[in-house]
Amino acid sequence: MKVQLLDTIPSRIAAEQATVFLPFHNFFTFAAYNKKGGNQVMRILLIEDEPDIAAVVKQGLEEAGYVVDVAEDGMQGLDLAAERNYALILLDLMLPRLDGWRVCEELRARRDTTPILMLTARDAVSDRVRGLDLGADDYLPKPFDFDELLARVRALLRRDSIHKTRIIRIADLEIDTGTRRVSRAGQEIVLTPREYSLLVALAARQGRVLTRDVIRETVWADEDSYSNTVDVYIGLLRKKIDAGHEVKLIHTVHGLGYTLKVPRDNAPSD
Ligand code: CA
Repeated sequence: MKVQLLDTIPSRIAAEQATVFLPFHNFFTFAAYNKKGGNQVMRILLIEDEPDIAAVVKQGLEEAGYVVDVAEDGMQGLDLAAERNYALILLDLMLPRLDGWRVCEELRARRDTTPILMLTARDAVSDRVRGLDLGADDYLPKPFDFDELLARVRALLRRDSIHKTRIIRIADLEIDTGTRRVSRAGQEIVLTPREYSLLVALAARQGRVLTRDVIRETVWADEDSYSNTVDVYIGLLRKKIDAGHEVKLIHTVHGLGYTLKVPRDNAPSD
């Protein structure tokens, strides 16, 4: 990943950023205050009712240096999430008392923007779409390799820290969220405010699939938009960001939505 973390956004600027990027504004306001730096121990909340899975995941994460709290049902998970500041939440979907979707929905309704990685037992696309629509950041179908889980956890934590940077760099794309200047391969790109909001929505969550509904809520908020508005704007953005460049950054994920990322073939391993 060619993402460089430059200066941390001071809280004053962070507050201004919030007006640009509403649904994720707590990343700027809370994260900037609460996280102290690279060496801080990361605390992860695992909400999983299967004792065997919970034990294995907890042990593996602890060996990787994380501190892990386990909640055995959805209600307990919500209580713990309210009590402590977690760097990440691992969320099983089929849970007693309150299922994972409801937990996700409730967390986002509380303006809790902790990254959520869903552990999905079923591989139905509709389950994933539902989770992503409710504000989860990524999903991992069970059964999974622990290494894969660890890689997703690292990626989400890294992505979360991108929210605290002023300049987002993805390959040769550069977005200065302070001046709202965008360039690719050193060439400045002029975007309309709407195109800019769409680009930042995608870039700030690099690699995450954003469904059309999430994009609509992020970029168009409460305004009326036509059913194909997102697709139309993605098309406009592609012309400005990707046209004429060998490496395409904006990708359609069929049946799910859109993502902005460096294709695997072109990404330096990290
Ligand atoms: Ca379960």
